[in-house]
Amino acid sequence: MASYSDCHGCALCLLSCPMWLQKRDVRFSPQGIAKALQHGAVAEDIAEEVSTCIDCGACDLLCPEQIDLSAMISSLRSECAPEPEPDIESDHVDTHRDVSLQMHLTADDLFIIDARPFHTHYAQRLAHYDVLRKATGCQMNLDLNRMAIATGIGSRADQCGMFDVTSQIQWLMQGRSFERVIVENPADQVMLAQLSGKPVICLSDLIRSEKKHA
Ligand code: SF4
Ligand code: SF4
Repeated sequence: MASYSDCHGCALCLLSCPMWLQKRDVRFSPQGIAKALQHGAVAEDIAEEVSTCIDCGACDLLCPEQIDLSAMISSLRSECAPEPEPDIESDHVDTHRDVSLQMHLTADDLFIIDARPFHTHYAQRLAHYDVLRKATGCQMNLDLNRMAIATGIGSRADQCGMFDVTSQIQWLMQGRSFERVIVENPADQVMLAQLSGKPVICLSDLIRSEKKHA
C-alpha cells in the first residue's frame, strides 16, 4: 500500500482539488500535506490544512502512486480536535443505476453529481454518466479530468467554517447557462436554489413524482 512517503511531487492531485482551487496555496493540497509529512510534520502541525479538505475523493483517482490520499487526510483529521459529523440527509437515494433518468433530464438542466460516491465507484459510474450526458445534452459538474466538482455543502470543512461553499458554487456555475438544477444529494438543494435563482430538484423526488404520474 502506497503512503505519503511515495509522493514524488508531480502535483497531479492539485488539478481537481477544491481545497487547492480555493486557497491557491500548495500547503492546502494532497501534495502539500504529503510533503509536510515527509518532512516530519505531525497532525497538529497541519490541522488547518487537513480540516479544509472536503473529502470529495477526487485526488485518490489522480495520484499515479495510488496513495489513498483522502483516507490519509481523514486519518490526520481524526488525530486533531473532534469535528462535527457531516450533515448529510439520511434519505439520500442512490439513483445512478436508474435507466429512466434519461427521460427526466433535458439540455437545459445542470446535473450536480454527488462527488464522493461518484469518485468511490468511479470505474463503474463514469460510463453511466457519459451515456446520460450524451443522450440528454445536460451539463454536469465535471471538470476536464471528468472528476465531479464537489459543492462541499454539508462536509466537515463546511460545518467547521474552513471551506467557503458560496464561492465554490459561484465558481461552479460561472459561465454556464441553465434553467433548472438537478441534485443527487438533498444537502445541496437549498443553497444551490439560493445562489442560482433557478428551481432545484432532488433527483430522487423527480423520479418518484414522474413515476407516480406515469
Ligand atoms: S479529498 Fe477532495 S478536497 Fe480533499 S484533498 Fe482530495 S481532492 Fe482535495
Ligand atoms: S498526485 Fe500523488 S505523487 Fe503526485 S503530488 Fe499528488 S500525492 Fe504526490
